[in-house]
Amino acid sequence: MDKRFIIANWKSNKNQKEVQEWFETFATYTSLFQKEQLKIIICPPYPLLPACLSFITRYRLPIELGSQAVSPFSEGSYTGAVSAKLIREFAKYTIVGHSERRELFHETDEDVHSQVTQALANGLTPIVCTRGEDILPQDAKIIAYEPVAAIGTGKPASLEEVEKEANSIKEKNSVSWILYGGSVTGENAREYLTLPNISGFLVGSASLDPHEFAQIIQHA
Ligand code: PEP
Repeated sequence: MDKRFIIANWKSNKNQKEVQEWFETFATYTSLFQKEQLKIIICPPYPLLPACLSFITRYRLPIELGSQAVSPFSEGSYTGAVSAKLIREFAKYTIVGHSERRELFHETDEDVHSQVTQALANGLTPIVCTRGEDILPQDAKIIAYEPVAAIGTGKPASLEEVEKEANSIKEKNSVSWILYGGSVTGENAREYLTLPNISGFLVGSASLDPHEFAQIIQHA
C-alpha cells in the first residue's frame, strides 16, 4: 500500500498543559502505531514544537512534527518570522499556503513559492495547501486540497468534488500525494480514503481531541 498521511493542524490552539494531556491520552492508542505506511504528523504552534518533541520521545511514538508556516526568507533581519533552518531542528514538515495564511495574513502565490524554496533548501518537506484555484509550485510533492467552504464549517466537500479536484491536481502537477482537508471527522474519514487519488488528510478541529483524531487514524 502507498503511504498515508494523517496531519493535525492545531492552528493557534493549546498551551503546554493541554499538549501534555493530549499526548498522555493519544499515547494509549497503541494499535494505531503499528502501520508501517502511515505517517502521523502533528503541526502545533511554533513554541509548542519542543514540548511535542519531548512527549514523542518520552512515549516512543512514531509521530513526526511539522510547523504551520515557514518564513519565505532565510535567517536574518525578519522580525517575527521563523526560518526553515530553525524549524528543521524540531520538525521534518511544514504546512505552506493554508487558506487562513492567504486570507488573514495576505500571503500570495509568490510567498508560497518562496516558502517552498526555503523549506526544501533546509530539508523540510512542504505540505502545500490549495483552495483549488491557487497556482502550485512544481516542486511540491504533497498537496492538500482544502476548499474554503469546508474548513471549520462542519460541511465537508462531496466525494465527487474531492475526486474531481484531485484528478485535476494530478494532471497539472508532478505531485506524489494528494490529501483532503475540510471538516474531516472520525465519522466521515473512511469514505474519502476510498478515492484512488486521496492519500490522507489535513485535519483541523477534529485533531484537537486525541480520541477523535485516533478515530480518523483508525481508518487509514
Ligand atoms: C484546516 O484548517 O486545515 C482544516 C482542515 O480545518 P477543519 O478540519 O477544522 O475543517
